Parts: sequence; C-alpha cells; structure tokens
Amino acid sequence: MATKILLEHANVPGIKTYDVYRQNGGYRSVEKALKGMTPDEVVEEVKTSGLRGRGGAGFPTGMKWSFIDKKSGKPRHLVCNADESEPGTFKDRYLMEYIPHLLIEGMITSSYALGCNLSYIYIRGEYMWVYRILEKAIKEAYAAGWLGKNILGTGWDLDLHVHCGAGAYICGEETALIESLEGKRGNPRIKPPFPAISGLWANPTVVNNVESISAVPWIINNTGAEYAKIGVGRSTGTKLFSVSGHVKNPGVYEIDMGMTVDEFMNSDQYLGGMMNDRPLKGLIPGGSSVPILPSHLIFKTAAGEDRLMTYESLADGGFATGSSLGSGGFIVYNDTACIVRNTWNFSRFYHHESCGQCSPCREGTGWMEKVLHRIENGHGREEDIDLLWDIQRKIEGNTICPLGDAAAWPVAAAIRHFRDEFEYHVRFPEKIKNRDHFVAEP
Ligand code: NAD
Ligand code: SF4
Repeated sequence: MATKILLEHANVPGIKTYDVYRQNGGYRSVEKALKGMTPDEVVEEVKTSGLRGRGGAGFPTGMKWSFIDKKSGKPRHLVCNADESEPGTFKDRYLMEYIPHLLIEGMITSSYALGCNLSYIYIRGEYMWVYRILEKAIKEAYAAGWLGKNILGTGWDLDLHVHCGAGAYICGEETALIESLEGKRGNPRIKPPFPAISGLWANPTVVNNVESISAVPWIINNTGAEYAKIGVGRSTGTKLFSVSGHVKNPGVYEIDMGMTVDEFMNSDQYLGGMMNDRPLKGLIPGGSSVPILPSHLIFKTAAGEDRLMTYESLADGGFATGSSLGSGGFIVYNDTACIVRNTWNFSRFYHHESCGQCSPCREGTGWMEKVLHRIENGHGREEDIDLLWDIQRKIEGNTICPLGDAAAWPVAAAIRHFRDEFEYHVRFPEKIKNRDHFVAEP
C-alpha cells in the first residue's frame, strides 16, 4: 500500500505557490488547530499518531514535544532541521523544493502546539535554491496572514525564519545546529541537557526533521488515530525513501511502513528490480550511518521472516551495532560494487566532517580513512583488517555525538559481512593496483 500523505499534491501544477496550495486544502490544519483545539490537544493528537522522528533516530515526536519545559516561563522555539546531509538521503529536499507550503503549514501548527512565537528552519548551505523557494513561500504565508501578529484573530503571534548553514554535515546534529544558529562554530554539545530543556539561547527548544513536521498537517486534519492505522506496530504512518544505486527506478518514494523489502525493491511501481538485472550484493536501508546488509539478509530476517520497511524489521540484521531505517537513504549495490572502495569513501566523508572535539572521532576517522585508502590502493597488509576493526570499536560509544558511531558502523558492517573482499585486496595487491577487481559501475 502507498497512502499519499506527504506527496499527495506533489504533482499538482503550481503547488509551490500559495494560491494553488490553498486551493488544494492547504493551511486547513492551522485553522482547525487554532480555532478548535488547545495546544495540548494538538500534542495529544501527534502522540496518538505514533509519529516518530524522520531524521533518523525515530524518537516519538509527540513525546519529544511533551518534554518541552513550559514551567520556566522562558520563550520556546521550534527549529526544523533541514540540514539534510546523510549520504544517500535527499527526501527532505524533495519536500521543500516541490511542496514548500506543506512544511510551513506544519511549522505553524507545530509551533502553536509548543507555544512558540519564534521558529526557524535551518537548511543546509548546499540547498541554496531551495532556501530561496522557502523564503518566497514564507513571504506568501506572511502576506496571507498565516504568520505574523494575531494569526486568525487568536492573539497568537508567530515569526518564522529560514536560516542557511554553510555546508557542514555536523550542523545536522541538533545541538551543533543550535550552536550554528546562535552564530557560533557548529560543535555538538554534551546531552543532557536536551534541547527540550535548554536549546536555542538556552531556551526550551524542539528540533524536528522536515518530514516529521510535514506529517503534522495530515495528522491534525485526519486525526492521530487514522495515522496510527497505517503501518505496523510502532512504525506508524508513511515514510519517504530516497533511493539511489543500482536499481531500475531510483528516486523519492512515499510508502506505508510495513511494506516488504521485496515488494519495494522488485515491483515495477517502485524500484523495478536491479539495474541491468545484475545480482544484488548489498543494501544500506537508511543512509550511510546505517550498516550495510548483505544480500542474504535483505529480504528475510535472520529468523527467516519477511523483512519489512519498518524501524524494527530493518534493525534486525546481525549487526555489530544497532541499525534502523535511519533517514530513509536507501542505497543499493550490485555485484560490481567494491565494498572496500565504498567503505573508504564513507570514511573519507566522516573524517572530513568530524568537528574534532573528541579524540576517538578526530583521530580515529582519519586513521580509518588512511588504512582503508592503502587497502583500496593495493598497499594493504593482512593485519590492517584487524586494525580497522579495533579502531572502529574504540570510536563507537566513546564520543560526544553520533558522528563517531556513524563513522564506525559502516566499517564494522563491511568487515563483518564482506571480510573476503578486504582479504582479496591485501592478498592480491597487483590485481588491485590494476583495478582488476570489483569496480563500481559509473
Ligand atoms: P538521539 O537518539 O540522541 O535523539 C533523538 C531526539 O530525541 C533528539 O531530538 C533528542 O533531543 C530527543 N531526545 C532523546 N532523549 C531525550 C530525553 N530524554 N529528553 C528529551 N529529548 C530527548 O539521536 P540524534 O543524535 O538526534 O540523531 C541520530 C540519528 O540521526 C542517526 O540515527 C542518523 O540516522 C541520523 N542522521 C540523519 C541525518 C540526515 O541528514 N537526516 C544526518 C546524520 C545523522
Ligand atoms: Fe565532533 Fe566527532 Fe566528537 Fe561529534 S563525535 S563531537 S563530530 S569529534
């Protein structure tokens, strides 16, 4: 099944503009919430929906909202994390680029629920053209009276700003994002305190992903109970997946949680099977910080059950560490992909993006990158594989923010599931130097 919640109007001509968005039922959730619901009732509806954070962690959104400190009397803020940078993930860009008013509507309804008068969308620097689309849409929303003073005559004010980052992956980590929004270097803070208690300018702050906030209008219009009917178990609603790699139909898809991986991968309506019908080698279901699954674990779990597109089912793969459906960056590899090269590429990325605050991450990511580089280029030693294993073990769990874990997990999973490829690289250096081995297709 594929219920259309987020992408329902994605193909309507002109939907980027306020008029067309409004003609298609836009901003109804703001009317419904502000005219007929208390902020707490909106929070309850989101809790009932079972919506979980679509940025990757899957933390229950309604529960996060209920943690916001209302007693201190300090101003509260909602910050939308649009710093989408997880390798393989581009679904938030799709939402903001094609249906910008959906996010703005979600920001207004959610800000009302949280009691905010000043909210932000923090967008990654590389999405400059999307930033401009959002700015234009926000202007239209102000002009139509959905933002600003005394919205719908309720006496409630809300200002919404879009802020452009400068191209650092680490600013997607919520506390680094907050630091950056405050005008400082984007270094993650130690948690607790969580932003819900002390966030932007030490005020209570909720940071939510674009896709999570964009689901709120549908939940308010149709009720949380209706949303919770979609999906399986604790994985409710629909989820966007951005698909890349060796499949026939890459792109952004909205599917009901709980579809089998088999159906998603092989039906013509979705990915259409493997490109050129080559064999499947591996799959990263949710972005590079989620470990790779080898082909024998993709369609069936270790227990022999159908693997489903849910937080729970995608987490069961015999990993060194926990996995999840992450942010939905679905990357598919066929038999021509070189896992060592791919792992080196990820390591290079994490080394480059480490903020350098903690030594296991700062030193470990660089060290892993160097070792992987020499293995990939035919200069590896047999003991390098155990060395890599050792380094990743020492990073995992020993850092301030999850970037360290994200750098360690792909290395652990690659060695665990594809150790033979690493051994091949160190045993046959001449073949590697001549590129006479697995080479990723262009
Ligand atoms: P997390 O589990 O630490 O936190 C999840 C959310 O819940 C946060 O907003 C946090 O403040 C809140 N929270 C957790 N416990 C809380 C408590 N006791 N009180 C109040 N609030 C609480 O995870 P994270 O560091 O936010 O995110 C990690 C995930 O981000 C990874 O799983 C990865 O998949 C994903 N990620 C996504 C992208 C992207 O571009 N979308 C990029 C990098 C990483
Ligand atoms: Fe910075 Fe890495 Fe430490 Fe995160 S884990 S705070 S990115 S050094």
